[in-house]
Amino acid sequence: MYDYLIVGSGLYGATFAYMARQQGMKCLVIDRREQAGGNVACRRMEGIDVHLYGPHIFHTGDEQVWRLVTSLVTMNRFTLCTIANYRGRLYNLPFNMHTFHQMWGVVTPDEARRKIEAQRGRYAGITPRNLEEQALQMVGSDIYETLIRGYTEKQWGRPCHELPPFIIRRLPLRFTYDNNYFNDRYQGVPEGGYNRLISRLLEGVECRLECDYLADRHYWDSQAHTIVYTGPIDEYFGYRLGRLEYRSLRFEHEVLPMQSWQGNAIVNYTDRETPFTRIVEHKHFDIHNREVQELQHTVITREYPQAYVPGQEPYYPVNDERNNSLYHRYEELAQAEPHTIFGGRLATYRYMNMDEVMASAIRQFRLITLQET
Ligand code: UDP
Repeated sequence: MYDYLIVGSGLYGATFAYMARQQGMKCLVIDRREQAGGNVACRRMEGIDVHLYGPHIFHTGDEQVWRLVTSLVTMNRFTLCTIANYRGRLYNLPFNMHTFHQMWGVVTPDEARRKIEAQRGRYAGITPRNLEEQALQMVGSDIYETLIRGYTEKQWGRPCHELPPFIIRRLPLRFTYDNNYFNDRYQGVPEGGYNRLISRLLEGVECRLECDYLADRHYWDSQAHTIVYTGPIDEYFGYRLGRLEYRSLRFEHEVLPMQSWQGNAIVNYTDRETPFTRIVEHKHFDIHNREVQELQHTVITREYPQAYVPGQEPYYPVNDERNNSLYHRYEELAQAEPHTIFGGRLATYRYMNMDEVMASAIRQFRLITLQET
């Protein structure tokens, strides 16, 4: 018997297992994939660490999460400065003085504020009901049309006025010349890649891959007192209340015979017509690794958003009203499950960053151990 059976070896499951092992508890982690790590998993291709499920940049303001991560791996000083390519013209992201200068030729923060103010129009004082209103209020119509609308509608497969406003509030807006994509105090990518972080979290923990919990629930339930489930919540309950919507992605990796292809880790294609949203050039994450930097080839990945159909990977929860209220009904069922804890992006149907996922696993573990004592 194990203390915990952890279903899913992504960041939530791996962090939970780490916490439990620190307390001398016995965990079994299972995952249906052939590799541990969930969506932070990487694969070495031609000597370059490739983020298999989309680019991951660790950033946090949470001291305890940063302390934990840096006690396990060395974080490099990668700082994300995304570039947007709109029909061949380049703009810096997130929205900052470089962007405003490129868009309007303005030079000072005052000029930029005045320009945005003039474009906000009737959205200035309202409470935004959707992403379109939120974007127009934040940055005005030029930036909305050039850098937000096309990208967002490709990414989410629906018009901006049908999407929740919080999605665009993830992006900083600043009136300084600072291209850092995040506001958090700490940021970086693990030296040696995310697989190293996952294997450090799972050190000393039994882990079985290519095992499907839902395919043989009775057997797996008999293995532990408590189950920690990190898969899609609707699937756990056999979709009995209906299906939650997710957004899926398709990744196209390519090896190219040149030292660097785009000169930056991420370039977003913000027009409507280009079928992919972004191109990731992975070697730029590994900034201090001379050997990788000097390779005369590079690996890029084009990221194509696509509709989610069962059998594909669910990446993003679509947190509109219909899905949220369906999720809350599933959540009620989950609360009535006596021996199962639900955690992570898929089981709590929330668009979380990596640090939030780790923090919630730490919190949940402490909460249940407190309840048990
Ligand atoms: N977004 C945008 N233009 C961009 C980048 C992002 O409009 O060039 C919007 C888009 O709606 C996206 C959201 O901002 O879903 C959040 O972007 P982020 O980069 O945080 O997305 P992630 O990397 O998590 O997919």
